[in-house]
Amino acid sequence: MSKVGGKDTKPELIVRSLLHRMGYRFRIHRTDLPGNPDISLPRHRKVIFVHGCFWHGHVECPRAKRPSTNREFWQKKLDKNIERDRQNVTKLVALGWAVLVIWQCEVKDLPKLKQRIEIFIGKDTEQSGISTEDDKIRGH
Ligand SMILES: [Zn+2]
Repeated sequence: MSKVGGKDTKPELIVRSLLHRMGYRFRIHRTDLPGNPDISLPRHRKVIFVHGCFWHGHVECPRAKRPSTNREFWQKKLDKNIERDRQNVTKLVALGWAVLVIWQCEVKDLPKLKQRIEIFIGKDTEQSGISTEDDKIRGH
């Protein structure tokens, strides 16, 4: 894993092609939003980050294990990444965006991933034009 941190990482491409197959329209790497989200769905006002487990500090993930050498260097660097991520999420939420983080290690299980995305975005909203979220709110 030497290329982690680059823009078109493999997990990100997998998520993008999945979204495409699910019929969602999205934009990538919008520079006008905090953190330049990997994927944004303007129509739903939702963004998705595809995070590398190591660089973004996936909690309790074996891939996020920190190197035992240069401990201080890595701690500073990775803590900074995590803090930046946190701030970006806060900013996005303040702007009215919902945020989903997909971790690199979660991309392997496509059916599960698909389900998470459907729950996050709201099933059928794109194709049928029926907003299930609004229905839920009205139903209460
Ligand atoms: Zn992970």
